[in-house]
Amino acid sequence: MDTLPVKEIRSGRAERPTQDAKETASILIVGGGAAGITVAAELRRHRPDLSVTLVEPSETHSYQPGWTLVGAGVFTLAETIRREETLIPQGVAWIRGKVSAFFPDENQVELEDGRRVAYRYLVVCPGLKLDWDKIQGLREALGSNGVCSNYSADTVEYTWRCLQDFQGGQALFTQPAMPIKCAGAPQKIMYLAADHWRRRGLSRKAEIEFCLAGDVLFGVPFFVPPLKAAVDEYGIHLRYKHNLKAVHGASRTAYFTVTDGDGKTSEVEKRFDVMHVTPPQVAPDFVRSSPLANAAGWIDVNAATLQHTQYNNVFSLGDVAGTTNAKTAAAVRLQAPTVVKNLLSAIDGKPLEAAYDGYGSCPLTTAYGKVVLAEFTYGGKVTPTFPLDPRKPRRSAWLLKTKFLPFMYWKMMLRGSEFDVKHKERRFAEAYRA
Ligand SMILES: Cc1cc2nc3c(=O)[nH]c(=O)nc-3n(C[C@H](O)[C@H](O)[C@H](O)COP(=O)(O)OP(=O)(O)OC[C@H]3O[C@@H](n4cnc5c(N)ncnc54)[C@H](O)[C@@H]3O)c2cc1C
Repeated sequence: MDTLPVKEIRSGRAERPTQDAKETASILIVGGGAAGITVAAELRRHRPDLSVTLVEPSETHSYQPGWTLVGAGVFTLAETIRREETLIPQGVAWIRGKVSAFFPDENQVELEDGRRVAYRYLVVCPGLKLDWDKIQGLREALGSNGVCSNYSADTVEYTWRCLQDFQGGQALFTQPAMPIKCAGAPQKIMYLAADHWRRRGLSRKAEIEFCLAGDVLFGVPFFVPPLKAAVDEYGIHLRYKHNLKAVHGASRTAYFTVTDGDGKTSEVEKRFDVMHVTPPQVAPDFVRSSPLANAAGWIDVNAATLQHTQYNNVFSLGDVAGTTNAKTAAAVRLQAPTVVKNLLSAIDGKPLEAAYDGYGSCPLTTAYGKVVLAEFTYGGKVTPTFPLDPRKPRRSAWLLKTKFLPFMYWKMMLRGSEFDVKHKERRFAEAYRA
């Protein structure tokens, strides 16, 4: 049991569990992914005497930003995976299990096996749910007949096989409605595939279509011109308002609901030789159905402090947070110090002064060796770290993506180093010249 006095809880709600909890944590972190491990490590650095408990079901931890490169044959899957136990900071207790429900009025969570864990402060970061089942037939189709996805450790290696096996024909890349994690990932693999096929002399034989549920190529307009230039260079056909609904693997057929300019919908069938699917993404069910969720199902937090809007002893970050930033590990890197500083202020009874500005980053791989490094904050403000026009695809940004960022993730971020080279709003020429 920890030593924090109960009166320091500032939830203003029930301060003692109404149902006997088997275990009590000072600070309970739900989810040991990018966000959970980073917060745990930073907490240990700031206050080694605090008792911190992490609930995480998986024995492994994945560096998901590396999966674009696994799908493109640059990294192996093994390079993106570590054992969870090697990442959990010393002194942090690990409950290997899944949270199934939140009881914030009782300061408790319930685990899948029925156990309850009480807490003084709660940090919620179990990521998001990949909704494969929303696309009829997708689960059965994945992994054969050219149907692949970079969005799971189970399917990403097959993407690279598909890129290699392709001999020409129809290649489809899909993107569901937003929000999704790493909004640029559906097109990153498309450019790498197109470049790979070009290098193999297949450009003329490859008919590439990018089928998006939405009607913009990228959410921050500043970065659209260089992406459009890549689309044109590879001869890719853009199909806006094409929402993937069903897949039939054996006949290699995809079914889309297409919305026209008048809002009328129709069904369109497309044959493919290879199809990279990005699944629809939603808040996890146990989050969506909890008192912590906003109307859309995500954790309802203040966009700057990342404190829950109703429960003062609850914080959230990462993909599950109901904020409008790009859902990325880059966002987590700056959200974590905000959560940790504010959580410690809450414990000390001080005002919450740390504010997250919505920073997110998306290294868009427009070719092997070239990256457009998109960095932005809330409202799509362009905030590059370096004083160079970020619209230009650069080799230096490729080296950052393939060498420095993985190093920074494993060796710095997950170890609680709050390393930050300041990003800031900068102005560049209106017109983009390739
Ligand atoms: C293909 C792809 C490419 C990407 N590219 C980039 C990129 O280039 N740059 C970038 O910054 N980001 C990128 N991302 C996004 C980035 O990986 C995520 O935004 C980041 O991992 C979010 O961290 P998180 O901790 O919120 O979620 P996660 O890292 O997904 O971790 C969530 C954790 O919660 C655990 N969990 C789930 N349910 C429960 C439960 N019920 N109880 C307890 N624990 C639970 C999970 O096991 C998991 O360990 C990419 C992602 C993908 C898939």
